Amino acid sequence: MAIIGIDLGTTNSLVAAWTAQGPRLIENALGDTLTPSAVSFDADGGAIVGRAALDRLISHPDRSVAGFKRMMGSARLVDIAGKSLRPEDLSALVLRALREDAETALGEAVTEAVISVPAYFSDPQRKATLDAARIAGLKVERLVNEPTAAALAHSLEKQDGLFLILDLGGGTFDVSLLHKLDGMIEIKASAGDVMLGGDDFSKLIAGEIARRAGIPLSDLPPQAQARLRRAADDVKRILSDQHVAPYAFDLPDATVAGEMTRDAFETLAEPLMRRLRAPIEQAIADSRIAPGQIGQIVLVGGATRMPMIRAFVAKLFGRFPLLDPRPDHVIALGAATQMGLKARDAALDDVVMVDVCPFTLGIASFDGRVGRTIFSPIIERNSVVPVSRNGLYQTLLDDQEHITVKVLQGEDIRPERNILLGTIDIAVPKGPAGRESVDVRFTFDINGVLIAEVTSLSTKER
Ligand code: ADP
Ligand code: MG
Repeated sequence: MAIIGIDLGTTNSLVAAWTAQGPRLIENALGDTLTPSAVSFDADGGAIVGRAALDRLISHPDRSVAGFKRMMGSARLVDIAGKSLRPEDLSALVLRALREDAETALGEAVTEAVISVPAYFSDPQRKATLDAARIAGLKVERLVNEPTAAALAHSLEKQDGLFLILDLGGGTFDVSLLHKLDGMIEIKASAGDVMLGGDDFSKLIAGEIARRAGIPLSDLPPQAQARLRRAADDVKRILSDQHVAPYAFDLPDATVAGEMTRDAFETLAEPLMRRLRAPIEQAIADSRIAPGQIGQIVLVGGATRMPMIRAFVAKLFGRFPLLDPRPDHVIALGAATQMGLKARDAALDDVVMVDVCPFTLGIASFDGRVGRTIFSPIIERNSVVPVSRNGLYQTLLDDQEHITVKVLQGEDIRPERNILLGTIDIAVPKGPAGRESVDVRFTFDINGVLIAEVTSLSTKER
């Protein structure tokens, strides 16, 4: 039976197989290992996925969409080509395309996969990912956190110690601190910025090109904007290898041409570079580890190919990060390795994964001492998973007939500042305030999916 791992990325998705020689990336029909996470619909309503769909974002903007991983877990719908689709329906189309590429390459049916998700993906985001897989006809053996997958890809190198994983993709920046000892990998902490990625660097270049050409960006028709963005992305990639990049593209009534230097780009990018610091400091502070104890710094994600990222990290830590020649392949290779664990391959015999819950989970409860409703944690951030914890809560009013439990995720003492995952209503017998109690149990499993159970102590009902 074929064993595959999938990196379902915001910008690019990849699929890898576990083979006797270790993890191996699978190419799509175009011979690329990276499949852009883009979907387009043709005139007959047929779905197109990948590079062609990305190109059609320019030619057929109203029939094409990308970046939907950001919407996973939300109730938002995408209106496209006369259809109204959920983000998980769009992700399912990408997963199906990867699955078919794997089936072609391996010459057999593929029905099971490990899929990677960002460490701080919330409960609804993880459930949406599981749903997308189901729609694509894939049974999810396990959701693996992206940094865990990155660590696993590197864990075949026999080296113990603390690893800092910095993943700068297209739309997000994820930071994780891992500890590897005697074949066991533990995630000590994770933090990130969900609004910072390589595409923000491209946008800066697009803005600068438009500014130099004297064209107000918002006045451009969508197709011209898309063309400008594509040119900007090319400039960014060229500047990773060279010091000067030329650009030229057509607008409805003019041709814009010029060149940009790496120095100019790096000056423009200073505000973005400053934002890299906070999540790194947060993860290190959470883990209570001195920066000097970090053994290896690993860069992951396509955007870490930018020399300024490497230079920034080197300066911040006073030494050079470990560079993978293809930092955007690492997570898929790790996901396949995770899948290989299931097959109990000899090379992986002693690797055990320990993960942490990257956020605090709790409920809203009234605190008599402060006289208002506060966020009361049940599972603390960075608890090792799987984890199951409970708390007891009492009725607040005389003759209260039911208790409503608000399940929240977040770090703020004010409940309204955290993410509401759901509410559970339970009936309790009438009585004086404080006599009736409910037990709230949270179980957070290895996939990062939360199960909340509320039990009335007197009726034993749930
Ligand atoms: P994601 O995890 O979001 O799917 P990737 O890890 O594939 O993303 O990274 C995509 C980002 O990497 C994009 O913003 C892309 O422009 C950027 N990128 C890819 N190659 C290069 C390069 N050579 N130089 C700079 N940025 C690059
Ligand atoms: Mg990624």
